[in-house]
Amino acid sequence: MTAMEYEAVIGLETHVQLKTATKMWCGCRNEYGAEPNTHVCPVCLGFPGALPVANERAMELTVLTGLLLNCRIPDRSQFERKNYFYPDSAKNYQITQLAQPSTVNGYVEFEMGDQVERVRINRAHLEEDVGKSFHFNQESGVDFNRGGVPLLEIVTEPDITSADMAYEYLNSLKAILEYGGISDCDMEKGMVRCDINISVRPVGETKLGEKVEIKNMNSFSGVRRALLYEIPRQIDAVRRGERIRQETRRWDDVAGSHRNHAHKRGCP
Ligand code: ADP
Ligand code: MG
Ligand code: ZN
Repeated sequence: MTAMEYEAVIGLETHVQLKTATKMWCGCRNEYGAEPNTHVCPVCLGFPGALPVANERAMELTVLTGLLLNCRIPDRSQFERKNYFYPDSAKNYQITQLAQPSTVNGYVEFEMGDQVERVRINRAHLEEDVGKSFHFNQESGVDFNRGGVPLLEIVTEPDITSADMAYEYLNSLKAILEYGGISDCDMEKGMVRCDINISVRPVGETKLGEKVEIKNMNSFSGVRRALLYEIPRQIDAVRRGERIRQETRRWDDVAGSHRNHAHKRGCP
């Protein structure tokens, strides 16, 4: 009997900070690198009674992204609060689009060798960024300047089949976003972050396998390296007869391996 062949199935969730002058729901400046906690107000800190007002430019950039990603722009979209506790979120909720996102059902096409590959986009929805934690020797601090910055989450269908294809997709997506003036996409400043979802299945199988999620990657080469590690890890595991359990892992780019991630944002 010959060994069964397995293939990788990958979906990416990419978070991109929008290039706006101000934050998503208040007039605080959207600026990287300012003194900590100088761009904050009752709205982005979630004080009781504060009234958010939507940033019109962020809405325009979201629709423009949808058009550039060949998406449908529904007549109606909706925001809701997603409640969770997290130390770098002063509000304990995030305003996001769950049920009715601003853009749905698109695709990105790019060349790989002499092939044109297509990755379908499930949706691009608008949400807001959280603050940033810093850990010093004896104490920790939170800078809320980033809290409330408009963040677009671009979610693919599980159409990606290799580490190289994920890498090419991300570079094409970045080129589109830069071309449209949607984001500066400065990776060093954390303007683009990526969650990887990955499963494996026997070639020919149509049902999806159980997925593992690797969260918060901040470089495309890191995404590639994480996949080059995780794909063979899962294939070896299922070959040995192990079952892949759904879990969240964290990639350690320095060590070149990843570990189990104890807590998952937004999950009970
Ligand atoms: P969740 O609710 O767990 O975040 P979603 O259905 O919203 O899951 O999908 C999140 C991302 O994971 C999408 O990019 C999607 O294409 C991808 N995905 C979903 N199921 C699988 C799977 N079995 N294997 C690989 N990727 C998957
Ligand atoms: Mg997810
Ligand atoms: Zn504010």
